[in-house]
Amino acid sequence: MSDLLDKVKAIVSEKFVSDNIYTRHAYSRNVDPVLQGVPDLVIRPKDTREITEIMKLANSEDVPVYVRGGGDCEFGGSKPIGDGGIVLDMKRMDAILNLDPDNLIVTVEAGISWGKLNEALSKHGLYTGCMGPGSGMTASVGGGISHHSVGGGGCAKYGACTNQLVGLEVVLPTGEVIETGSRANKFTAAPFNRFGNGPDLAGLFCGDNGILGVKTCVSLRVFPRPPFAAYKTFTMPRKSADVAAGIFTAIRQKGIDVYDAMYLMDLLVQVGAEKGMFPLWDALKKKRGIFFYTVEANSEAELSEKVRQLDGIILPAKCEALGPEIADGNYAKWHYVEQGHWQTYHNLWGVVGGGYEPLTAECFTPIKQFPSILEDLDIWDGEHASDMETILKTCTFRPITGSGPILLVDGCNVELTCGFTTFGQYFNGALHPEIEEINLRLWKSILERVTKHGVQWYMMGDITSRLMVDIGAFPPEYLALLRSIKGTVDPKHVLGRGKYNFWGSATL
Ligand SMILES: Cc1cc2nc3c(=O)[nH]c(=O)nc-3n(C[C@H](O)[C@H](O)[C@H](O)COP(=O)(O)OP(=O)(O)OC[C@H]3O[C@@H](n4cnc5c(N)ncnc54)[C@H](O)[C@@H]3O)c2cc1C
Repeated sequence: MSDLLDKVKAIVSEKFVSDNIYTRHAYSRNVDPVLQGVPDLVIRPKDTREITEIMKLANSEDVPVYVRGGGDCEFGGSKPIGDGGIVLDMKRMDAILNLDPDNLIVTVEAGISWGKLNEALSKHGLYTGCMGPGSGMTASVGGGISHHSVGGGGCAKYGACTNQLVGLEVVLPTGEVIETGSRANKFTAAPFNRFGNGPDLAGLFCGDNGILGVKTCVSLRVFPRPPFAAYKTFTMPRKSADVAAGIFTAIRQKGIDVYDAMYLMDLLVQVGAEKGMFPLWDALKKKRGIFFYTVEANSEAELSEKVRQLDGIILPAKCEALGPEIADGNYAKWHYVEQGHWQTYHNLWGVVGGGYEPLTAECFTPIKQFPSILEDLDIWDGEHASDMETILKTCTFRPITGSGPILLVDGCNVELTCGFTTFGQYFNGALHPEIEEINLRLWKSILERVTKHGVQWYMMGDITSRLMVDIGAFPPEYLALLRSIKGTVDPKHVLGRGKYNFWGSATL
């Protein structure tokens, strides 16, 4: 290892390379409390050239490399699978390289966070449309593109952040650098369009979970933020999941251009309110499902017409509007005006404390289907009651199964974060290996159950990518093509080794 360390130090300044045990353990986890793998080295490169050299070295030494943006992956995407290898932390590469106000395109280094980028754009009256994920204050643009992220605001209007992608600069696993889209023509001065010059090679790297290349620069479309916006929050009647699905469908069928539309299921509102997560709704007598929308417009007349149409769908469904101000419980206003879209999930996941953390995954599913998935999550929870009781006995709080906020995204689809929230094996100063075993088994079980509803996981990390292979969810022809692409760009499988069970000649 010291030999590798010396070779890395010849590429990257010593200050930005570490084999220190504390640093390595800090990089051994993402968000979940179950999957851990301790890297041998952590490197924080400063530019594309350094990454090129690191990838060449990784190939010659046969060392796996795992790319990490904000490290906000919930399922072990940006840490080693098993122990060893290098974690490549991209967060030093966080510059805005160019803002092209004529063509409305921004080019950034991939390690920049959505928060930092949008703060800079806001000074020009611009935003990224889809504001990345709910973790956007720390999560990086490169991580978002590697995950098809949605959820940090604007995804009903703009879809996933990969929709806005114009072009990428990518260091291939073997160290060569390519650019995609308009820049695939070497005579093109600046990125201006994604599609053309042959197939959509940028698309190959979108949602690749960091296995096909290291994204170093990202060019995105940006949009003028419309001058008018309205936001309304509603309490919902019983059977709120079906009601919400009906509202989402009607919004799409009537072609109303909403910026965001979100549903919070009954259990989430109840537990969140009990645990002090939703102080805005303390005064509500009935803690049932909540629905909200945000619309934008270029004139007051356009805005009022959109609000009239939306209220015409929502109020007859027996939903009741809360007051207009944040203090009245208007979560939608907090979400849009005070960047609640980047705070909701952080609050949610810290809701119980003491290491109570989610074992989830995120998928897209057609609107009409999500109520039956939620019902099945309840059934699944009942089927695993005795495991849940074991965790309750040790950790004094029962795991909760369900979904986070459900968002309208592209087309007639929603984003569903589903799984259960539980304690890790370290609880109250003691180690409980039996909890680790239960958690991992249950996590796989719930992901398998949801996969069989035919959902589309839009980010997969370690656990979901391997589970899909293990349970045979990928048709063999599809998996063979993916394996062959991986083998072509990364013959030694150094990048993200083990995801999708792509190990090359290595083993865990
Ligand atoms: C509180 C919280 C809220 C969240 N909310 C949402 C949400 O609303 N919507 C959503 O979609 N997700 C959400 N997530 C999941 C996750 O944060 C996002 O998917 C996010 O986009 C990941 O970005 P990151 O920079 O943290 O990536 P990381 O976790 O560091 O990496 C994610 C994956 O991308 C790869 N990767 C990262 N950077 C690069 C690069 N430059 N080149 C190649 N591969 C790379 C990694 O290897 C890994 O496979 C949330 C997570 C948390 C903790």
